[in-house]
Amino acid sequence: MNAVETGATIGGLLREFGLPRLEAESLLCSVLGCERVRLIARAEEAVDSSRARSAHARFARRRAGEPVSYITGWREFYGLALRVTPEVLIPRPETERLVELALERLPAPARVLDLGTGSGAIAIALATERPGLGIVATDVSEAVLALARRNARDHGAEIAFFLSDWFDALGPGRFDLIVANPPYVAAGDPHLERGDVRFEPRLALVGGEDGLDCIRRIVADARSRLRSGGWLLLEHGYDQKDRCVELLLELGYADVGDFQDLAGWPRVCTGRWLD
Ligand code: GLN
Repeated sequence: MNAVETGATIGGLLREFGLPRLEAESLLCSVLGCERVRLIARAEEAVDSSRARSAHARFARRRAGEPVSYITGWREFYGLALRVTPEVLIPRPETERLVELALERLPAPARVLDLGTGSGAIAIALATERPGLGIVATDVSEAVLALARRNARDHGAEIAFFLSDWFDALGPGRFDLIVANPPYVAAGDPHLERGDVRFEPRLALVGGEDGLDCIRRIVADARSRLRSGGWLLLEHGYDQKDRCVELLLELGYADVGDFQDLAGWPRVCTGRWLD
């Protein structure tokens, strides 16, 4: 069957499944291997039957709920195209805020640690913004680290990756800045059963009963891992600001602050360790 027989066109495929335009475009681009801006001018163009079938298959997966990024295999973060698999959280715009706040606090030169790096999003964004940084990134999964390494290579980011449960496998040595987007969703949160989140790894999302297990551990352990004057920056849930700020203050951090994401939710807590 050729394109004439199937009658499939770019414009027709985009309309056919009733998906939101942007999602249909991203999925179709992943089949055609082109950029989204190109599609608009090509609405009338014929699509051969094998590509039309691939597009149908991808549209159907999306209709069944699978996140677009797991179908296409990539996501843009801080202007960088990152590979993603269902083994990692899909990088989100609120985490770009964490990157911005980290950049504002980075001395030069600096040693930086990204805990639970996943796709490598935070570490790679920092590395590409500030070449020459000494960045260490950890994760508990070897498969996840392989993906993060590949992303780092794609972007020429020099990062030392370690298999480690938070700080556990790291050697001695202190950092000027420690960042993490740890799992922080409460175990029973109904949000876990909705939308794209259903397909994401629980390990990267759930932080115990109240969501704060990992945050508590990182805030406690980072004290012996920060140079005097070094910053800790953690992403947290929209309703966890007060508990995060309290925790940082209780454990002796200075310059404690909390910052909103672009949607206006409290999202990143910061504190400074002074010996
Ligand atoms: N922001 C994510 C969500 O609510 C959670 C990310 C995380 O736990 N680090 O889906």
